[in-house]
Amino acid sequence: MSEPETRVLRCTASDEEVFLPPERCALLVENAGEPQAGGFGAYLLSGGSGVLPDGTRFALPKERALQPGDLLLFREAGGQQYVSSLRTADRGERTLFLTGRCNSNCVMCPYGTRQRMNGRNESTELLLQCIQAMDPRADYLCLTGGEPTLLKEDFLRILAAIKAHFTDCELHILTNGRAFCYADFLRDYRRVRPYRTLLGIPLHAANATLHDRISASPGSFEQTALGLDRLLSLGEHVELRIVASALNAGHMPELAEFIGRRYPNVNHVSIMGLEMMGNAMLRRREVWLPFDALWPQVSRSVDILIRSGVSVQLFNFPLCTVEERYHALYRRSISPEKVRYLPACERCGRKNQCGGFFQTTIVMPDLAVQPYE
Ligand code: SF4
Repeated sequence: MSEPETRVLRCTASDEEVFLPPERCALLVENAGEPQAGGFGAYLLSGGSGVLPDGTRFALPKERALQPGDLLLFREAGGQQYVSSLRTADRGERTLFLTGRCNSNCVMCPYGTRQRMNGRNESTELLLQCIQAMDPRADYLCLTGGEPTLLKEDFLRILAAIKAHFTDCELHILTNGRAFCYADFLRDYRRVRPYRTLLGIPLHAANATLHDRISASPGSFEQTALGLDRLLSLGEHVELRIVASALNAGHMPELAEFIGRRYPNVNHVSIMGLEMMGNAMLRRREVWLPFDALWPQVSRSVDILIRSGVSVQLFNFPLCTVEERYHALYRRSISPEKVRYLPACERCGRKNQCGGFFQTTIVMPDLAVQPYE
C-alpha cells in the first residue's frame, strides 16, 4: 500500500508571502462567499472549514483560530483530506519536535518512559517541508525531542536545510550532548550546522554516579562530559542546563564549582525549575522540592558561577521565590498556554513580571508565594 501523501501549507492572509509560491500557502478567507482564486493551495474559511482549489471541503482543527504564519499539515488517504495544525510561528515559540525517542530516561523528564523508549521519529521529509514553509527572516528556531541527534544522518540533513533556508536565525538545539563525544559526528555537525547555533545540554551533577542515576543511563556522564570538552575546545556555543530537583539540590554548589573549573567558556548556565509531568510526576516523591526549599542551594550555586565568570539565567521559578538581587537573571519562560497562578497571585503587584507555575506543577503541595505590594 502506498504511503499517504502529506504536505505542509503556510497560512497567509494575503499573497504577501513572497518567499513561497501561492500553491504552498493556505489563504485565510474573511468572507466565505469570496471566490477561491489566486492559485492558493487551500482556502480557509471562518467557521472551521476549508476548501481545496478543486472544491473539496475539509474540516479544520478546532484547538484555536488559525493565524498567518501557522503551518497546516495535510494528509491525503483514501481520497480524503485530513488536516491538523503544526506548531506555530506567531508567539516566538518556533519549535520543531524531531523525535520522541531518547537514549537517556531522566527521572525528572516531563515525558514518560514509554515515549522515551518507543516514541516515533517525525518524518524527515515532513520536517523539511516545515522548514521550507517558515519565514526565512525568522530570528529563532528550536529543535527538540526526545534526543534530536538520534536521527543521525537525518538530523544533519535538517541542520543543512535550516542553514540554507534562514538568513540570520539563532538555532537552539536541546540535546543531552552524548552524541558529541564521537569525533566523526562532531565533525559532520560542525560542517552543516548554521552559524548561530546554541546547544542546550543538561548536566545533572559533577560526578558520574549522581548524573547517571538522574539520567537513568550508565555511561551518560562520561559521554556528555567528553562531548562538552570537545565542543568547547572547538569554540562551539553551549548552554549548560541544570534542572534543579531534590536529587541534585544539595549537590548543586559542587556542580557549579565543577562547571566554573572545567567549562568556564560556556555561553551561559540555565538553572531551571521542574515541569511536573511524565517521569517527574511519576517519581515526584524522589524529585520534588518546593521552590523555597530549593532556593538556598540555587542562590549559592549562582554566586559560585558568577564568581567563576559564568553567566547565569533562572527559568521556571515563580518570581517571589527568587531573591530580589537575582532578578536580573530571571526569565519568564513558561509558555502562555501552560502558565498558571495561585489565587493569592491575583493581588500581586508584579504578576505581569512573573513567569508563574506550569499547569502541572501548580498542583504540588507546599507551594508558598509572597505577593508583592
Ligand atoms: S505572588 Fe504569584 S504572581 Fe506574584 S511573584 Fe509570586 S508567584 Fe508570581
